[in-house]
Amino acid sequence: MAFELDQKYLAIRDEAAAVAAAAEPFAVEADAMSTVHEGMRKVLTASSLYDLTVPARWGGRFETVDPLAVCVVREVLMGTSAHLDSLFALQGIGSFGLARAGSDKLRDEWLPKVASGEVLAGLGLTEQDAGSDLKNIVTEVHRDGERLVLNGNKSFISNGGAAGFYCVLAREDQGLSLFLVPADASGLTITPTPEIIAPHILAELTFDDVEVNEDNRIGEIGKGLEHVLATLAVFRVSVAGASIGLAQSALDEAARHAGTRVQFGRPLAKLGAVADMLGASWAELEAARLLTYKAADMARADPAASLHFSSMAKLVASETAGRITDRAVQISGRFGLVRDSKLERLYRQARPMRIYEGSSEILRLGISKTLVNNVLADGAAQAATTPEGARR
Ligand SMILES: Cc1cc2nc3c(=O)[nH]c(=O)nc-3n(C[C@H](O)[C@H](O)[C@H](O)COP(=O)(O)OP(=O)(O)OC[C@H]3O[C@@H](n4cnc5c(N)ncnc54)[C@H](O)[C@@H]3O)c2cc1C
Repeated sequence: MAFELDQKYLAIRDEAAAVAAAAEPFAVEADAMSTVHEGMRKVLTASSLYDLTVPARWGGRFETVDPLAVCVVREVLMGTSAHLDSLFALQGIGSFGLARAGSDKLRDEWLPKVASGEVLAGLGLTEQDAGSDLKNIVTEVHRDGERLVLNGNKSFISNGGAAGFYCVLAREDQGLSLFLVPADASGLTITPTPEIIAPHILAELTFDDVEVNEDNRIGEIGKGLEHVLATLAVFRVSVAGASIGLAQSALDEAARHAGTRVQFGRPLAKLGAVADMLGASWAELEAARLLTYKAADMARADPAASLHFSSMAKLVASETAGRITDRAVQISGRFGLVRDSKLERLYRQARPMRIYEGSSEILRLGISKTLVNNVLADGAAQAATTPEGARR
């Protein structure tokens, strides 16, 4: 069993590090923006990283999207800039359902543009009144003669206003279907989402009698949630990757500060309570990283079967990032509070990670359900193989 990344992923990590270094001069400016920073986008499109977000058939690097590769890239990019990380990750998150189940016509039209970075992708699930409880969405498609017509809203959509298309979950007949809606569709209105504590490219989408082609349905009627779950199975663990990258950056800042700032005649790092925070943070970070790589490796083999491990990694890594950034600010005292300092940015950016792509509470629910089911199934299997007379 290997506990280290092999050469293939180390090379991808180096590639991402070069992109992060080129983007670093824009980081403060871009991370304060909720629209696309064109300089940062250029850095990404000039690199080959986007080709990790789509399958080889449409210009991607690997036959299928590799969750460990995406995870490793996000770890590096997020350590430098949340804007950079999001511009990268959303290409995969927004297009995965399309790559998995879209018609050839639709995939050939859009996916090469996603791979090249010419077009940004978006995924529209959340609504004003439906967040964690996705089955409660009200956006719906109905048939009007020969036409399919889409009505409703989507809220807090990443890449909103910047994407070339959105994969939108909508009620259809008795189920939920996924549709590709081009950003310039007539009847689609895009308005800014209120600014959040860590600026992010976000918008509200309103569909007012938007006509969609039958061909724009991704997969079968009523099977939309399957493609959404498949997307999560590949990309949820990458949020864990981004979380450990962010936590590492915060810990490095805190260690630098604690190693050089002297109070009471000694560097802060030699004062017991500060050393305690640094030591605990490093240990927790390494534990989160190991779990993240393990979960991403499992997702490489079978994303759906290992979704509970991806959930565990996302839960542990995002909660760890929250604790570490908080301690890093504490260790840095007043300097950790300075607006747009690296630590202050990381502190704000860690917070949304515990909410999107499965909030911590929802993840714990799912993990617990899997645990109980597994244990009960093991018990039942054991009972089935135990001879009748040996049972109590
Ligand atoms: C930066 C950012 C980017 C985003 N990008 C996108 C995007 O691209 N596309 C998209 O569709 N959405 C996006 N979202 C929305 C995101 O998916 C939702 O915020 C998330 O699903 C949680 O939904 P909610 O905010 O409505 O919270 P709610 O579902 O209202 O939950 C509120 C609180 O209640 C808890 N809770 C809810 N249900 C339960 C339960 N059954 N048991 C215990 N606790 C529960 C939650 O854990 C949470 O703490 C984004 C959000 C953010 C912050």
